[in-house]
Amino acid sequence: MTAAHDICGRPSIAQSLLHAERRLAPISESPRLDAEVLLAHLLRIGRGALRARADQPLGEGPSQAYATLLARRAAGEPVAYLTGEREFWSLPLAVTPAVLVPRPDTETLVERALELLPANAPAGVLDLGTGSGAIALAIAHERPLAAVTAVDLSADALAVAAGNARTLGIGNVTWLQGSWYAPVAGRRFDLIVSNPPYVASGDPALARLAAEPRLALTPGPTGLEAFEHIVESAARHLTARGWLVLEHGADQGPAVAALLERSGLREITTRVDAAGHPRVTSGSAPAAAPSSTSVQERT
Ligand code: GLN
Repeated sequence: MTAAHDICGRPSIAQSLLHAERRLAPISESPRLDAEVLLAHLLRIGRGALRARADQPLGEGPSQAYATLLARRAAGEPVAYLTGEREFWSLPLAVTPAVLVPRPDTETLVERALELLPANAPAGVLDLGTGSGAIALAIAHERPLAAVTAVDLSADALAVAAGNARTLGIGNVTWLQGSWYAPVAGRRFDLIVSNPPYVASGDPALARLAAEPRLALTPGPTGLEAFEHIVESAARHLTARGWLVLEHGADQGPAVAALLERSGLREITTRVDAAGHPRVTSGSAPAAAPSSTSVQERT
């Protein structure tokens, strides 16, 4: 018996965490954090309280429940699906396997969007492929005067997103089901944002993301298919001074910028995320093309 076990041989919280950390090391970039978050969730206490109780034994029931959670994590389930929650932009969001787990990278997109949205003026915002609602809710929370419309193809995802809006008491988002612009035909927005699926369908990275919805991760063989569609129709859905802001993969900046340029968008720039990877490309609405009739009227 080691010092970390009590007289009945039950492992202490500290010992359980150490064991969990070792178990998760091969599959996680943050094994200690994962181990702590999962045990704190199970015991319904904060991670700080966990440390304060490090020498206490972990009871039989919690021990077994913890083993089950660790087995699921070791098999590739994200921590957020196991706890049912993930923080994004300081907002606690419910997540289920129907939605992509919100990534810190995506906060770079929110930062860029907020730069383009005046704080004290109404604005129409469209979020395409909203998933958990992370982007739409962060923007709506920061810009209470904005009217945010959030679209997703998945009814299950929209149920998660709308539930998050209710829990957070955020009322300025409208949730619409459908494919990209289909539910907003004929409408224009001051800002269109999207974190669409952008992983190429043959990318080995997908193996690591197997627990998350395919629909949210990969649009097809090149990884650019969703961007092509979103950018192609952006001009028809932007106001004269509107902006399009897109999250993309670290190596997709030039390709996404080229798509924006080809569709006539202007002021195109790419931002890096906190890890230094090119992550968010934005552009402003094309110059209004003079219609042939107005040219004729003038002559
Ligand atoms: N950034 C995610 C990842 O590579 C992918 C998100 C997406 O396809 N929109 O883990």
